[in-house]
Amino acid sequence: MSYKVWSSCMDGCSCSLCAKLEGAALPIDDPFVIAGRSVQAPPLHNGCRCSLMYQEKPAPAPMRAFEAFISFLSIANESDDFFAAVNGYHAAVFFLRRLLDFSDAELGSAGLKGRRELADDLAALVANRDAIFNGAIVRAHDRVSHDAASLKTERGRRARVDRLLQLITSSQELSPANLQFIRSISEGVPI
Ligand SMILES: [Zn+2]
Ligand SMILES: [Zn+2]
Repeated sequence: MSYKVWSSCMDGCSCSLCAKLEGAALPIDDPFVIAGRSVQAPPLHNGCRCSLMYQEKPAPAPMRAFEAFISFLSIANESDDFFAAVNGYHAAVFFLRRLLDFSDAELGSAGLKGRRELADDLAALVANRDAIFNGAIVRAHDRVSHDAASLKTERGRRARVDRLLQLITSSQELSPANLQFIRSISEGVPI
């Protein structure tokens, strides 16, 4: 095999550096360079869960970036772990921006849509950030409420959900609209 391809674990729980390396393909002996460091292979840091795949002929670069974009977007839209969804969102934005670095010819030969459409997708993704984060808040809230249903007392259930909402609120990622949304959840919804 002549190439190594970086594989982050694609669950939204890898750090932003590992996520950015997803799909990076290099000749076996070349180092991966990220944030001023160069490494031949994972781990990038303590606790890194990335791995390498070895391939004779990796998919074209735009295709690898597109696949990473799609995977991270689904984490952003589907994970019931709020922080994983946020990481997925940022990684999806990163790979969509990277796709815009390719020419229409390069994108077309990989079977992808053109730069103008991708730019529209990026604008929509950025514009929908509040809604995407609110969706992640609802999923995390529903999961914890569901898990807390086995607790005996209303006070216990309420405390479990409040802890989650406090944890989410401590995130630096939230807009005023997200914070308002969390307030409406914690005040309005009976458990
Ligand atoms: Zn990492
Ligand atoms: Zn890693």
